[in-house]
Amino acid sequence: MNAAVVTVGDELLSGDTTNTNATWLCDRLDGRGVTVERVTVVPDREADIARVVNEYRAEYDAVLVTGGLGPTHDDVTMEAVAAALGRDVVEHEAALEWLAEHGGYTRDDLTEGTADLPRGARVLHNEVGVAPGCVVDSVYVLPGVPAEMEAMFERVADEFQGAEKHVTVVEADEPESALLSRVDDLRSRFDVTVGCYPGDYVRVKISGGDPEEVAAAADWIRERVEPVEN
Ligand code: ATP
Ligand code: MG
Repeated sequence: MNAAVVTVGDELLSGDTTNTNATWLCDRLDGRGVTVERVTVVPDREADIARVVNEYRAEYDAVLVTGGLGPTHDDVTMEAVAAALGRDVVEHEAALEWLAEHGGYTRDDLTEGTADLPRGARVLHNEVGVAPGCVVDSVYVLPGVPAEMEAMFERVADEFQGAEKHVTVVEADEPESALLSRVDDLRSRFDVTVGCYPGDYVRVKISGGDPEEVAAAADWIRERVEPVEN
């Protein structure tokens, strides 16, 4: 299974807010064996959101969109997702009922539009905040507030399932450039995916579907690099 993550918000593009939602979702999806193919940040602009959602839903198994759910004028994500899927936005009765039951809100208490979802969407209740999310076709619409987004994702986490992946990291106390030919060799000898992440030292991340192959690859490279002294 693969997926794309779309994070919505002018504050992300201006640098006022760090895009922790993207990193959090990538980590959780990757951990479930789902390959994240795209992470995109778009402004709070309906046409821009609709364009990427439309493109990504044709390309990937699932699209996760976060941010811009509230009913205020700058929150346009629901309209944009609806537009991308050729649907209109309608008030969702089950969402209103849940808010009345769990939040004690009547229809009159809520800002108009709070329970508006694309027609035919499955509602995702917001356990932490107010604005509901939803699933429509393969598009998951989640809030921007990290605690709300995380709680909502956990409710649907089981819908994201990829092939089991095994990961081992080998650390090398050498410049990345010096490791190139050994890493090339590693790639050609073993059926694994290899990533190199330089920092104070280089982390060689080896992943694959077969745990024995991953272990053998890790042993092979570990024996051939300068170890990190702790
Ligand atoms: P609300 O219903 O409260 O308006 P919302 O779903 O509309 O929520 P936003 O208005 O987009 O969400 O953002 C709410 C808060 O969450 C803001 O403080 C924003 O900075 C933060 N936030 C939004 N997107 C992200 C993100 N990708 N990573 C981290 N924080 C985010
Ligand atoms: Mg908002």
